[in-house]
Amino acid sequence: MKYVSTRQKSPAATFSEAVQISLAPDGGLYVPEAFPRINPNTFTSQCSLSQIASRLLSPYLQGDPLHDSLEEICDEAFNFSVDLRRLKGETAILELFHGPTAAFKDVGARFLASCLTRIAPTRSAPRLVLVATSGDTGAAVAAAFHGKAGHEVAILFPKGRISPRQEKQLTCWGGNVRAFAVRGTFDDCQRMAKAAFQDPHLSSRFHLLSANSISIGRLLPQQVYYAMASLRYFEQGRIAPNFLIPTGNLGNAVAALWAKRIGFPINQVVLVTNANRAIPDYFTTGKWAPQPTVATLANAMDVGNASNMERIFHLYPEGRGLQNDVQALSVSDAEIREAITGGNSKWGADFCPHTATAVFAREKFTSPNWIIVATAHPAKFDAIVEPLVGHAVTVPPALSDLLARPSHSQEIDPSSEAFSAVL
Ligand SMILES: *Cc1c(COP(=O)(O)O)cnc(C)c1O
Repeated sequence: MKYVSTRQKSPAATFSEAVQISLAPDGGLYVPEAFPRINPNTFTSQCSLSQIASRLLSPYLQGDPLHDSLEEICDEAFNFSVDLRRLKGETAILELFHGPTAAFKDVGARFLASCLTRIAPTRSAPRLVLVATSGDTGAAVAAAFHGKAGHEVAILFPKGRISPRQEKQLTCWGGNVRAFAVRGTFDDCQRMAKAAFQDPHLSSRFHLLSANSISIGRLLPQQVYYAMASLRYFEQGRIAPNFLIPTGNLGNAVAALWAKRIGFPINQVVLVTNANRAIPDYFTTGKWAPQPTVATLANAMDVGNASNMERIFHLYPEGRGLQNDVQALSVSDAEIREAITGGNSKWGADFCPHTATAVFAREKFTSPNWIIVATAHPAKFDAIVEPLVGHAVTVPPALSDLLARPSHSQEIDPSSEAFSAVL
């Protein structure tokens, strides 16, 4: 299997090459040159997540040097549970927040780390994984790479603009993970990371690697939980479920659509955004028009220009078939609050602000057979959730372990020079 760029102007790459490059040289995103076809009947939901993962991903890594280690990689990456629970009636919830940093990004980050640490160094310079983060990505990447030999991690986050618990998850590592509190915005952090990749001095001292959300190494493994959930739901009533997915940069949703494309029993996918409405607007107007980002309660979904839109266009050339498979809708902050506040009485659960968008959206549909995708644990966003629900949210053990550690971070000015100097 080779990977090609959505812009079709880069040479095809192997999986191992694509995960090291991240963004294709022509600025496009890597996609499989052809989608494998799997027979879902050969999988059963009795298989462990790691077994589903190695069988599902095997054709995607066919011919790649990592193929021989795939089972080991999946055992290492999928070492925490992903739960599908009945919420009420025929509505279920897919809990993706049982990993080390309590958000779905742990799946992709852990798989990427397990792959990269098995790819032989191509340069003598030490590998440096760079991430600019507005919260969850940096934490998942730090957790996944912490203590991995041959890899340093540098995280840039906007000082004072993320929740205290999110900050703790970025700064609690030490060792090979360094966190930089940038006196600026998330956009400053992103600009500094981009500039670092183009800095010849840094590129000669380090083998720079990106762990951002467009990496194919983060996207492929996300298909696994959609495979597991759809199989399990289907086994019960012989009906393919619909998914409601809290959406920002579309990485999670593209994985669901790939799992559908290769043959898993998935009916419709609903992309639920917060007040950043570029994606829902595209579905009504047919024109893709990125918009400036607006800040919302669901901050990990504050994206005005979803980079994975290119992968949607690749999957549905000229939009053909898109409206059959996918719908999109936007949920306001007031509606997020309403869904969190009513969570217990309506569904018997507390929800994080991201998951709350999907919970709110569920009520817009009278048709049955839905799976709400829960992307983060509510305890990660206690400052928003607790005042609305009126009780303390129990902190999961993995998260409380991290919160108990000491913090290490270094404050820097929002400039490439400042970043280069500290590196
Ligand atoms: C990153 C994130 C999202 C958005 O996922 P995308 O793949 O960017 O669409 C939703 N919820 C949470 C909690 C996240 O961390």
